[in-house]
Amino acid sequence: MKKMRKCALCGKYTLEDSHCNAPTKSPHPAKFSIDDKHAKYRRMAKER
Ligand SMILES: [Zn+2]
Repeated sequence: MKKMRKCALCGKYTLEDSHCNAPTKSPHPAKFSIDDKHAKYRRMAKER
């Protein structure tokens, strides 16, 4: 089963393990998405 990956260099989505001669990364790491949500709410609270 292939997962969607994203090239860190050109930003294109690909199914390949590498792109632009560089290894691709998973575009949506679960850990980071949770952190991002907290960061967003913190920013909104600060701007108010
Ligand atoms: Zn690329």
